[in-house]
Amino acid sequence: MTFAASVLTLYPEMFPGPLGVSLAGRALAEGKWSLDTVQIRDFATDKHRSVDDTPAGGGAGMVLRADVLAAAIDSVADERPILALTPRGAPLTQDRVRTLAQGPGAILLCGRFEGFDERIFEARAMEEVSIGDYVLSGGEMAALVLLDACVRLLPGVMGAASSGDEESFESGLLEYPHYTRPIEWEGRTIPEVLRSGDHAKIAAWRKHEAEIVTRLRRPDLWERHVGARVQPPSGARQKKDE
Ligand code: SAH
Repeated sequence: MTFAASVLTLYPEMFPGPLGVSLAGRALAEGKWSLDTVQIRDFATDKHRSVDDTPAGGGAGMVLRADVLAAAIDSVADERPILALTPRGAPLTQDRVRTLAQGPGAILLCGRFEGFDERIFEARAMEEVSIGDYVLSGGEMAALVLLDACVRLLPGVMGAASSGDEESFESGLLEYPHYTRPIEWEGRTIPEVLRSGDHAKIAAWRKHEAEIVTRLRRPDLWERHVGARVQPPSGARQKKDE
């Protein structure tokens, strides 16, 4: 099964864009994933080919029409999840990315202007996803971000199959610091332990560093990590209580 992405957008020329180079680009050329775009405007029905209209109730900007969006969605809908990119959506996480990457792909709906007519979310089963608490001018770059995160996890895309396992978020922690040659640079050295060749000591050092950096920079992640660790499985707790 190949991960198949369909992007519904007013700017199909933005794709594959940055996903056409490096790891993702090579994987695309090799058929490890596929990408097609749907021009939302092709589904406009009036003679001006309009995709948007003024907001009901007044106010600035334009709103994407539900009828046009629905026709565009229906042209590609299959078993793949439909994700609308919106700042109001659930923040994208590595967990969600991993699940998506294991599935058949995704249909991504990119907004522009003020966003979508709310009725589209009720009329078509979809998930609203945000890539962070800031506002972009359109959903296209958010779709590129989401796809980049998924594609690098597909089998055979990253060089070493395991190089994703220890990364930030995969263990619930941020990643430990990396170093490479030269051993000394501008008077700074690489921590001694990393040059010791003692794999157990190195692993312990990395774990410790990952914990420190997470605790300091992301107390929210740290809380969750510690919470997950102190909750023993129900069987274990029973034993302890006996
Ligand atoms: N009026 C909207 C913002 C619209 S921005 C609001 O205040 O919520 C225009 C489009 O950019 C959105 O429809 C969405 O598709 C995309 N977009 C903007 N910020 C985003 C974010 N943080 N994550 C995902 N998509 C975003």
